[in-house]
Amino acid sequence: MNPDQFRQHGHELIEFIADYIEQLESYPVQAQTRPGEIRNQLGDTIPENGDPFEIIIKDFEHIIMPGITHWQSPSFFGYFPANHSGPSILGELLSAGIGVQGMLWLTSPAATELETHVLDWLVDALALPDTFQSTATGGGVIQDSASSAVLCAVLSAREQATDWQSNQTGIQQTLVAYTSEQAHSSIEKAVRIAGIGSDNLRLIAVDQQFAMNPEALQRAIDNDITQGLKPFFVCATIGTTSTTAIDPVDKIGRICERHNIWLHVDAALAGSAAICPEQRWLHQGLEYAHSYCFNPHKWLLTNFDCDCFYVKHRSSLIKTLGIHPEYLKNPASDTGEVFDYRDWQISLGRRFRSLKLWFVIRYYGLQGLRKHIRQHIELSQQFAEWVDTHPDFQRMAPVPLNLVCFRHNSDDVLNQKLLETLNNSGKCFLTHTRVNGVYTLRVCIGGTYTRETHVQQLWQLILKTVQTIQQT
Ligand SMILES: *Cc1c(COP(=O)(O)O)cnc(C)c1O
Repeated sequence: MNPDQFRQHGHELIEFIADYIEQLESYPVQAQTRPGEIRNQLGDTIPENGDPFEIIIKDFEHIIMPGITHWQSPSFFGYFPANHSGPSILGELLSAGIGVQGMLWLTSPAATELETHVLDWLVDALALPDTFQSTATGGGVIQDSASSAVLCAVLSAREQATDWQSNQTGIQQTLVAYTSEQAHSSIEKAVRIAGIGSDNLRLIAVDQQFAMNPEALQRAIDNDITQGLKPFFVCATIGTTSTTAIDPVDKIGRICERHNIWLHVDAALAGSAAICPEQRWLHQGLEYAHSYCFNPHKWLLTNFDCDCFYVKHRSSLIKTLGIHPEYLKNPASDTGEVFDYRDWQISLGRRFRSLKLWFVIRYYGLQGLRKHIRQHIELSQQFAEWVDTHPDFQRMAPVPLNLVCFRHNSDDVLNQKLLETLNNSGKCFLTHTRVNGVYTLRVCIGGTYTRETHVQQLWQLILKTVQTIQQT
């Protein structure tokens, strides 16, 4: 494809995306596709000769699009939001356009320095502890996901506790990790990958608000120490996936400090809200954390993937993940004056992700980002009120931010049927969880294009659907 052809098809594709955004509401939110239906249309053999771009795009429209679940639909309320936005899409495109691989400072100094700069900005914007600044002992780095961030945290904690890399045979004690029974599954996955094992992950009980009980954590740690085990890692969650419960990070942090345990704080969804000064209470106690992450790719208008991961001591992370083969040696790295972000993550190669994040922050400014967050929090409070004041529904968890957990007062069967009917209608998409063992619907309000009318439509649709189910 020569530059002229690229120009032509590029313009057409931008038109396609702009039309798509305009027409988002006309698509069924959840793909109405049976397993195998898409693959069966893709052709058996890999093409020997290339196709014209027009043909590829036609196939995309006719084969791929029908199998898409429209995460950007304003009526997508499932799991968690996966925001995109104009500036973010264009930043992503530009990143591909210049095709940079930013593993070392040398391989594109601007990629590294922009990332450092934008992540330092966000320390200020979210009022995170100053130690997370690159100008202090810490620093931030963009990971692909919160799952990778917690894995880097577990590995660094393991290193801190055992000098693992140089001293594997010298590990005399079994390491133990802790998180709440409401924590994300990525914590257990990280603990497994790090060789700690699920049996050595303690799932700490929660209180009535589904937040970790710090006394239970203290008891578990004491018990493990008595057994001769070595507590090394705690993950606290700000905004759990099931119900957006907020662990008491300050109390947990004091326990970790007393026992010299690495504290990671997972704020994947909720962290973005701290861009609003009135939501900074969320991060209370964060100064105890050795590491922290939040996902602009959920609720801060930046398309997947973009997780901001911060550490208090970058030396711990670099000691754990740094590696220096001859073929990557260069004078800039040798001076120690530059960051080589390959030493801050699992893989070597890395995308220029800070470009889209910079575009988003520059384009919207703090005021624009705050408006985005505030409208969703407000709409969620409104939705919660509708649930609370309706005699047939009950709320199942507090609504500190933008997730409402609720159910119809009848039984699990009706609630399951309700979710299934709503999603099959194509008019909205929600997901479920279990709260105290009871089947519960989740409505997470955070889409880039979600406004008051969509939330009102959802509530009306829920009421109507319940009626229909009860009549049949
Ligand atoms: C979404 C979420 C995760 C997983 O995020 P990824 O970036 O997809 O790995 C982890 N923890 C919490 C609290 C989340 O909300």
